[in-house]
Amino acid sequence: MNYAVKLISSEEIAKDIMAFHFDKPEGYQFTAGQFCFLNLPDMGFIDEQGLRRHLSIASSPLENELLFATKMSESAFKRTLRAMTAGTAITVEPPLGFLSLPGSTALPAIFLAGGIGITPFRSMLRYASGARTGHTITLFYSNRTPDEAVFLGELEAIAEVYGNLRVLPTVTRMQESAVRWPGLTGRIEASMIEEHCRDWRDSVFYIAGPPAMVESMKEILKEMHISNERMHIEKFSGY
Ligand SMILES: Cc1cc2nc3c(=O)[nH]c(=O)nc-3n(C[C@H](O)[C@H](O)[C@H](O)COP(=O)(O)OP(=O)(O)OC[C@H]3O[C@@H](n4cnc5c(N)ncnc54)[C@H](O)[C@@H]3O)c2cc1C
Repeated sequence: MNYAVKLISSEEIAKDIMAFHFDKPEGYQFTAGQFCFLNLPDMGFIDEQGLRRHLSIASSPLENELLFATKMSESAFKRTLRAMTAGTAITVEPPLGFLSLPGSTALPAIFLAGGIGITPFRSMLRYASGARTGHTITLFYSNRTPDEAVFLGELEAIAEVYGNLRVLPTVTRMQESAVRWPGLTGRIEASMIEEHCRDWRDSVFYIAGPPAMVESMKEILKEMHISNERMHIEKFSGY
């Protein structure tokens, strides 16, 4: 069953990244970390890939809205999203996917987010904090420059109140930014994980981001002898 939802508002949250807030339909139940397909109305933009895409639900199940954040492009889907105004109706399909907080709080979790791959983690972290689940989580959040790190401020604010969360942002192209940056620099590497997570051997790992980032993180975890069973992956591949 598909659900009709209306756009409440949208805003640019970084260069070429936009957030879209929709009302949450009655009875729409999902687990923090899941994604769904969105079907947009025909607003005159057409291409072969059409007007349907999967996006992670960035809001927590405890919030009253469905939030999506996406990197903009010139695809018909993204051009339609950009053209939509408050009140525009779209349909969302039922939630899908198995990315979710660990079933047990016994093991610490290490989240590895690349760019827009932060979306399912925002949902999971807001949920963990809101429901006081007790999970111990370290988030490594990699972006090229500081201004691309969407949701960083609010995730750091969550860490202030939810003591079991550490947020460790890193930027890979600091030379392209004039912003002062107190965080880490360079790509997420085994050495970075090992230095900041003493208990990495006993942790479960989560990876979300663009395909190239996900593949490189998988390689790093393999080199660290992390078994596939301890890796949970959301690859933001295309249509
Ligand atoms: C589980 C899941 C969750 C996701 N969550 C998010 C999210 O929260 N936010 C987000 O921004 N994205 C997310 N994505 C990715 C999203 O579904 C889109 O693929 C992405 O946003 C790109 O959409 P697009 O319309 O800009 O490009 P698309 O038109 O969908 O193109 C996708 C990719 O394919 C390439 N491509 C386009 N046309 C062709 C062609 N003819 N032949 C070969 N390659 C082509 C493009 O260069 C691009 O890299 C998620 C994907 C998955 C699988």
